[in-house]
Amino acid sequence: MRYSGFKILKEALSGHKGWTPAWRDPDPKPQYDIIIIGGGGHGLATAYYLARQFHQCNVAVLEKGWIGGGNVGRNTTIIRSNYLLDGNEPFYEFSLKLWEGLEQDLNYNAMVSQRGILNLIHSDAQRDAFMRRGNGMILHGADAELLSADQVRREYPFLNFDNARFPIKGGLAQRRGGTVRHDAVAWGYARGADSHGVDILQNCEVTGFRIENGKCLGVDTSRGFIGAGKVGVAVAGNSSRIMAQAGMRLPIESHVLQAFVSEGLKPVLPGVITFGAGHFYCSQSDKGGLVFGGDIDGYNSYAQRGNLPVIEDVAEGGMALFPGLGRVRLLRMWGGVMDMSMDGSPIIDRTHIDGLYFNGGWCYGGFKATPASGWCFAHLLATDTPHAVAKAYRFDRFRRGRMIDEKGMGAQPNLH
Ligand SMILES: Cc1cc2nc3c(=O)[nH]c(=O)nc-3n(C[C@H](O)[C@H](O)[C@H](O)COP(=O)(O)OP(=O)(O)OC[C@H]3O[C@@H](n4cnc5c(N)ncnc54)[C@H](O)[C@@H]3O)c2cc1C
Repeated sequence: MRYSGFKILKEALSGHKGWTPAWRDPDPKPQYDIIIIGGGGHGLATAYYLARQFHQCNVAVLEKGWIGGGNVGRNTTIIRSNYLLDGNEPFYEFSLKLWEGLEQDLNYNAMVSQRGILNLIHSDAQRDAFMRRGNGMILHGADAELLSADQVRREYPFLNFDNARFPIKGGLAQRRGGTVRHDAVAWGYARGADSHGVDILQNCEVTGFRIENGKCLGVDTSRGFIGAGKVGVAVAGNSSRIMAQAGMRLPIESHVLQAFVSEGLKPVLPGVITFGAGHFYCSQSDKGGLVFGGDIDGYNSYAQRGNLPVIEDVAEGGMALFPGLGRVRLLRMWGGVMDMSMDGSPIIDRTHIDGLYFNGGWCYGGFKATPASGWCFAHLLATDTPHAVAKAYRFDRFRRGRMIDEKGMGAQPNLH
């Protein structure tokens, strides 16, 4: 079924009886050409591009819970391609371009909103660093604009420009950045993949791999054994647990990241603002709620909820930047499990086990990567070669010392 304005009108006039489920609920087949473990954004996008780009339709996505229940439905919805390093910028710019055409491609309203993102500048050193990053972005074909304090003030008059510790001295803007409705991305990719014949198997937890003579033959699941020619793992925060079942230890730690939403307000923030110096970022949803967050909780965990000290820390950061926030009530908050890699950048690669492929280490920036991650993982699974923009995301970079460390933090996953 194609969605359109005409279809909505027709259904409105006929009692909404003509809508069909957006994807099927099939029983598992005994064998698939390719199995993707994890029905988050990355797993579903991989299945969609496998079918649409690479004509691989005998594919199943295995999800232990429900579509959109993981980080894809828990993030703060920001998309951007404002990276500095060569290994990252072309990948994230490719992703942003895919976002720009995604709704037409999927025939699904994912509420892609290029309302812009602004990284605030509080010191001369930070201005130098952001200018360098902006130049790097422009060299890779992305857009970047350095704003003065007055320009920022015109767009964001409610911020505290004269904070003694963090005065606002300008910002690095990427106008093509913005937000996308997170769970709609999962639903849109699920519907798109299903329409090409991909089986989406919810409530199907993978409990082990069947590996014989160095080759992965399939997976044991809560719904029985399912055979596969190739198995791709895209389980984000659960990466270490799943890959341990294949005997692999990853350069990844799991940490909790929290998100917060306030009560609805009249428009106060036109775009996304990030206050890196104070560990706070914020945007305003279309319903009016302020959507904000800060740092990860800082200890290893697989729990999808966080702790009070970080809430206090995020609220302090918010108040330093945006004093009016103190008058706003917090409506809800939640946590997600982040797959934090040792250099803060992801991995899309084959493993040493024949037929077993891995996608993970997205840290807290994997939502914006969803389309490119799916495309590049599908490319790898279909052709056994890395996509040009994902060549740097190999396991062996940790052995060879070729880190992609945007923040320059070293092997400290909790700080990336
Ligand atoms: C609070 C918060 C804010 C964030 N903000 C942003 C942001 O603004 N911008 C941005 O770019 N990124 C952001 N992120 C990061 C982003 O959400 C993630 O990097 C990205 O969603 C991870 O990929 P995914 O969508 O595939 O993960 P998930 O949606 O977590 O998908 C993984 C799936 O694997 C399933 N799974 C796990 N184990 C098994 C098993 N054994 N068998 C079968 N299935 C299994 C899980 O149930 C889950 O559904 C944020 C994350 C959080 C938590």
